[in-house]
Amino acid sequence: MSSIRDGAVQPITLASTGGIDRRAGYRMDEAWLAAAWSHPSTRVFVVSDGQALVEDTPDGRTELVMMPSFDAPLTEAHRYFLGVDQEGVRYFALQKDSLPGRMGDAARPSGLRGAAGLLSDRDAELLVHAVALENWQRMHRFCSRCGERSVIAAAGHIRRCPACGAEHYPRTDPAVIMLVTDDRDRALLGRQVHWPKGRFSTLAGFVEPGESIEQTVIRETAEEVGIRVGGVRYVASQPWPFPSSLMLGFMARAETTDVRADGDEIEQARWFSREDLRAAIESGEVLSPSGISIAARLVEMWYGGPLPRSPRP
Ligand SMILES: [Zn+2]
Repeated sequence: MSSIRDGAVQPITLASTGGIDRRAGYRMDEAWLAAAWSHPSTRVFVVSDGQALVEDTPDGRTELVMMPSFDAPLTEAHRYFLGVDQEGVRYFALQKDSLPGRMGDAARPSGLRGAAGLLSDRDAELLVHAVALENWQRMHRFCSRCGERSVIAAAGHIRRCPACGAEHYPRTDPAVIMLVTDDRDRALLGRQVHWPKGRFSTLAGFVEPGESIEQTVIRETAEEVGIRVGGVRYVASQPWPFPSSLMLGFMARAETTDVRADGDEIEQARWFSREDLRAAIESGEVLSPSGISIAARLVEMWYGGPLPRSPRP
């Protein structure tokens, strides 16, 4: 993805392809999965409570800690098949109650938020897939039709109910995230009530049943800040498994400019020109929108390149 003004905007973390072919057609093929598991080139990592082990390499990269399958701690683990890379290496994640203890001094546990911006595209793609599956598995252990405990099937991608036969699929909750601009090309940024002082970012909200994503952008903007928007334009998406969202990024044009923060979700919202935002960040009044979220990329697209960094406190 590139900027609407120049090419200096960073790619969207977690949304670039790491070259993994998920091979969904093999998830039910037990013979194929067994052969894939036992192949000497196969690589495995453990995921537990949203975390995996990562380590820094001598040349300054950060990698997922992976092991061959014959070293993998299979006891009391659930096995997820994640896919195959361009060299033919098969990848599995093991869901366990805890991370392995003895993996070398350099290994440290990390969640996706901490690791995503550091890992290669391949490792980030593998970790986001595994964490999203694990979040869903952990929170959907019982059949939503009859209440019986369900069991994992399809190499981690289905839960099946032994009592009523229902099949349950991983759930993804769509959420919209939007940068609203006005006729003077100012951007509207808001502060959520629980955010640290100085943090301003884009508006966001969950899609409700029976709603299109464009309707969600219009409704959430009206609810949160009292602004009517049109010209809703989809930009890009980002998996956001905290615990199970898909962030759908939009630009929208304000048709009104009188801001009324709802005080419930949004405590304050303000129009910023590029000059206003630069000055507010450089003075320390506003924290530079950063991190792995697509929100920072939407703001950069409007700003026209990387944002200034906040001064050190
Ligand atoms: Zn059932």
